[in-house]
Amino acid sequence: MSSVSTPALAAQQQLGSFGGRLIGPDDSDYDEARSLFNAMFDKRPALIARCANAGDVAKAVAFARAHGLPIAIRGGGHNGAGLGSVDDGVVIDLSLMRDVEVDRDARTVRVGGGCTWGEVDAATNEHGLATPSGIISTTGVGGLTLGGGLGHLTRKCGLAIDNLLEAEVVLANGEQVRASADENPDLYWALRGGGGNFGVVTSFLFRLHDVDTVIAGPTFWPVESGAEVLRAYRDFLPNAPRELNGFFLFGSVPPGPPFPEELHLRPVCGVVWCYAGADEEAAAAAMAPLLDALPEPLLHGPAPMPHPAIQGAFDGVYPAGDQWYWRADFVNDIPDEAVEVHAKFGAEMPTWKCTMHLYPIDGAAHDVGSADTAWSYRDATYGAVFAGVDPDPANVDAIRRWSVDYQEALHPYSAGGAYVNMMMDEGQERVRASYGDNYDRLAEIKAKYDPDNTFRVNQNIQPKTA
Ligand SMILES: Cc1cc2nc3c(=O)[nH]c(=O)nc-3n(C[C@H](O)[C@H](O)[C@H](O)COP(=O)(O)OP(=O)(O)OC[C@H]3O[C@@H](n4cnc5c(N)ncnc54)[C@H](O)[C@@H]3O)c2cc1C
Repeated sequence: MSSVSTPALAAQQQLGSFGGRLIGPDDSDYDEARSLFNAMFDKRPALIARCANAGDVAKAVAFARAHGLPIAIRGGGHNGAGLGSVDDGVVIDLSLMRDVEVDRDARTVRVGGGCTWGEVDAATNEHGLATPSGIISTTGVGGLTLGGGLGHLTRKCGLAIDNLLEAEVVLANGEQVRASADENPDLYWALRGGGGNFGVVTSFLFRLHDVDTVIAGPTFWPVESGAEVLRAYRDFLPNAPRELNGFFLFGSVPPGPPFPEELHLRPVCGVVWCYAGADEEAAAAAMAPLLDALPEPLLHGPAPMPHPAIQGAFDGVYPAGDQWYWRADFVNDIPDEAVEVHAKFGAEMPTWKCTMHLYPIDGAAHDVGSADTAWSYRDATYGAVFAGVDPDPANVDAIRRWSVDYQEALHPYSAGGAYVNMMMDEGQERVRASYGDNYDRLAEIKAKYDPDNTFRVNQNIQPKTA
């Protein structure tokens, strides 16, 4: 490894035709450029290579490799574990690469590697179309997609990766390749769940669906009803039509409109609904079996809205700059004993932004087999996330403890692994468990496309050694 005392300067000298911007510690916008969504991480990269195109990405990768510097890939910068940056290394920042092109006839959207979902949803909604993403519009397309992509449209349209048709990728050796069912199909398989392990994706091509107006919003019950509501939800959801997504949550009512003042900050349990259709009667009929089985809620808010509105509904509650510590697990069943554990921790949230979500993994997500993509937990029925969140760094210990204790208490009831996009840095065994039987094949594909583990600032799949 050759030493580089001022990588930004060295990069400027060596990357003469770099089209984007090179930002180093001496630049006035360095602090802004290095900040991550999760303020728990305060990483100081040697160089932020804000790339304008795939050629820039290839140059930045080559530069980092030539100087023995670690590389992080930054899409939307939302990663909970802070994996969009790296101390003393090179950040390949894709935030200038945000083109979104809808092909209405082909029913596809081509998306730059640095886009956030809000930009994609806004563009596709102009045509009455959508592709599945998550539940927050500020999340990056890159990280969310490559890890899988669970969200409001999962039951009807599958995971984000189930709608990924093609990706353009800069590999560790600088080569620019396409991955699809016809070109580099092994890479295409690995990208669908394998995260940023295989290269830098500079553009994604997604399939679009007829999703325009949706009936969406929350139903809240008092947190003290947690066990009763969760049992009813568990029994209800598998029989609901695919159009109806509804994730269970423990949380608190946000302290602002449109929520009634008397409910502000009240701890609750409930369901956040998204019925993928405009028919209010059909939506109400789909929700009715759950509502009929339970006492009157504190609030029942689903209403017609454009799809991007529900995608952005949590943005104000969770802006960049909060402290986040979260744990996750895949879940097959929620036996009554596990329901009681949930009810206990749900009632003990240490700060109002703390939350637990159970994202449904069924419907269209179950149409794809466990070995068909890298995302192996197709038999799971929920992705559980235990998110400790608060703006005040002084509360980090409390939110971390709640998240860890909650996850560890329920882990015996889990399917074993976790959704990689909702993990912290939890070690190699946890990554292996999260890919299950697909790990060995991933390690082989990693050895083919990134034998030196150049892309290792991620939930790392280690190249198989001979
Ligand atoms: C508030 C919040 C809400 C969330 N909601 C959801 C949700 O509803 N559903 C869901 O599935 N997930 C959700 N997530 C998790 C989210 O999917 C992950 O945090 C994801 O890593 C974020 O992607 P990003 O591009 O913003 O991250 P970044 O921090 O930019 O990148 C994270 C990692 O992704 C990889 N990466 C990113 N872009 C690329 C690229 N173009 N090419 C190659 N590798 C790349 C890199 O390995 C990088 O280390 C949420 C996260 C937060 C913080």
